[in-house]
Amino acid sequence: MGKYLDSVPFSGIIRIRDMMYGVKDPFRLDQGDVSFDSPETVKAAMRRAIDENRTHYLQTTGLPRLLELLADKLRTKNGIPIESPQEIMATTGGIHALFILCQALLEPGDEVIVPDPEWPPAMGNIKAAHAVPIPCPLLESLGWRWDLDELASKITSKTRAIYLNSPNNPTGGVLTRSDVEAIAELAARRGLWLISDEAYEDVLYDEAEHVSPASLPGMYERTISFYTFSKTYAMTGLRLGYVAAKDDQLRERMKKALFYTASNISSVVQYGGVGALEGAQTFVKEFRDELKARRDLFYAGIRERTAGVLSGEPPKGAFYAFLKIDPRWSPPSDPRPESISWAMAEYLISQGRIGCVPGADFGANGEGYVRFCFARDRRELEGALRSLGSLFAH
Ligand code: PMP
Repeated sequence: MGKYLDSVPFSGIIRIRDMMYGVKDPFRLDQGDVSFDSPETVKAAMRRAIDENRTHYLQTTGLPRLLELLADKLRTKNGIPIESPQEIMATTGGIHALFILCQALLEPGDEVIVPDPEWPPAMGNIKAAHAVPIPCPLLESLGWRWDLDELASKITSKTRAIYLNSPNNPTGGVLTRSDVEAIAELAARRGLWLISDEAYEDVLYDEAEHVSPASLPGMYERTISFYTFSKTYAMTGLRLGYVAAKDDQLRERMKKALFYTASNISSVVQYGGVGALEGAQTFVKEFRDELKARRDLFYAGIRERTAGVLSGEPPKGAFYAFLKIDPRWSPPSDPRPESISWAMAEYLISQGRIGCVPGADFGANGEGYVRFCFARDRRELEGALRSLGSLFAH
């Protein structure tokens, strides 16, 4: 790609991360990382794999036992009509699945409709494949969902795919079953692919339901679905994800991209994935209950301590608070900042030791908001809330 990569922007999250390393005793609410440890079943399986010297090359698409377990999971939990484990590939985290699927699917100039705001690597990987992300706003008034007429109006002769990310990072918005059905119908009628990022499929609150578009009749053929162990099994640093697609030709191309970027992904980590899936799944419910409690604690604190400078409704999914900044607010040093979300993030980091990500980093429609991760442990959340209180409550 050479110099072309100069036109693909870096996520601002990297700039924030660098800023955070200069802060003493920080509250790390900037990164989408959970404070839980990986389950014992994962660690024991990895220890065993090391002790048994399972440290050699593997099949390119993944360890057969892992792919079998994933095929079962996708069939029973997601309702996707997987016929064979060969339809799945294990990847170095969800982000690697995204890279290989964009390389395999997209032609230069293809358009992909993406949520705005959205996790920046979605746009970055679409651009890295020489294609063009076309933002379609998620509306706060609809619980951070699309207006489906507006979505349809974004389709042109160049549109190749619609990118779904439900639950969404950064807003926590969850598409309803009828949203997913309508989007599937639209894609089928207009001959489009769906790319479905289901990283937060297990992180749902209240009555929210996760619907995999590939489970709808006739949709598996035109949907590429990808997933990660990072969130559900607290395995962010271990880097394990997977992608499923029905189309043989597309999969052949994905396999090439996988081979040329990884040969095969880490053997030990794939054994960890087997341990995660073979072990009891009680962990998943406990994790969700604890996150819900942290969500409620964090939003109560925001209401009590920020005097309305930050506000928003608790999300139905994922583990981020995407909060609106009172437009009258400005940092003491700059009454008219160019970007209020960057000004807020820099202010909270430098004055409050609180890591957060400016909404503008997720798309133009994210300007005016700031994202906090509430999957941190309660002490860290409480510390951040106290610090917010000392900055805003007068
Ligand atoms: N999709 C979304 C929306 C995410 O937020 C993330 C992680 N932050 C991922 C996919 C991929 O995660 P990983 O590469 O750790 O598997």
